[in-house]
Amino acid sequence: MCKSCHSGLPLTFDVVDEAGIVAAATAAHAGGQAWHFHVLAPLCTFSPKPGAYTFLLELTDAKRALCAYYDEKPTAVNKQLLPLLHGADALADTPADASLAEEDEALLATIEAAAKAGTSWHHHMMFPACGLNTSDGKWRLFVEIDGREPAIHDYADEPSRVLNRIERIYFGLT
Ligand SMILES: [Zn+2]
Ligand SMILES: [Zn+2]
Repeated sequence: MCKSCHSGLPLTFDVVDEAGIVAAATAAHAGGQAWHFHVLAPLCTFSPKPGAYTFLLELTDAKRALCAYYDEKPTAVNKQLLPLLHGADALADTPADASLAEEDEALLATIEAAAKAGTSWHHHMMFPACGLNTSDGKWRLFVEIDGREPAIHDYADEPSRVLNRIERIYFGLT
């Protein structure tokens, strides 16, 4: 696919600035409305603006999507909104979980190896209502590592423990 002339984002959206993203997310959170977000890296499959980082906010109850564009990885807003979405301990240093499935451990090992090697990678936690999620009502982890096909893992419930481990690698906390 020609990424310079084709948006990979299968949603209609409005472009706003960071303040607009934060205001809309916190208002949805306060109002008990469903929302979630994605950080789309410059080479992301779903990028509407290849070369830039895109912060995508999906207001799934309100049926709206907002995007803000960045030259650099939007770490501050990501860290600000992550606990609202996944809980205060989203980035906590939790003990390694012996009950993780073998395929989850394998995924974590692959991500850790990419991070250590300095290979670009990022991930998407797709809620069941997510506009990027083509599964049938599952929670989907979608991991993109440069030079590989995306890794797709579907779950019946929110895979919080796996996500916690991935987020900590993503933010360099391990
Ligand atoms: Zn991506
Ligand atoms: Zn989504």
